[in-house]
Amino acid sequence: MDKLKLKPCPFCSGEALVVKVKLCENPYVVVCQSEKCGASIGVYSGTREAAVEAWNRRGE
Ligand SMILES: [Zn+2]
Repeated sequence: MDKLKLKPCPFCSGEALVVKVKLCENPYVVVCQSEKCGASIGVYSGTREAAVEAWNRRGE
C-alpha cells in the first residue's frame, strides 16, 4: 500500500504533483502538471500525505 501514490489527473489523465505553495499551516496542494490543464484540487493540506489523499478522493 502506497499512500503517497497520486492518481492521474481526473480531467486530462496527466501527471499530478504535490507542491508546497505557502508558508502557513496548510501549505500543500496537488496540481496537474499539464500546462494546458493546470487542474488543482483547490484544497490546502497540512501534510503531503493529506494532500495526496484529498486528490485521490476527488479523482474517484
Ligand atoms: Zn490535468
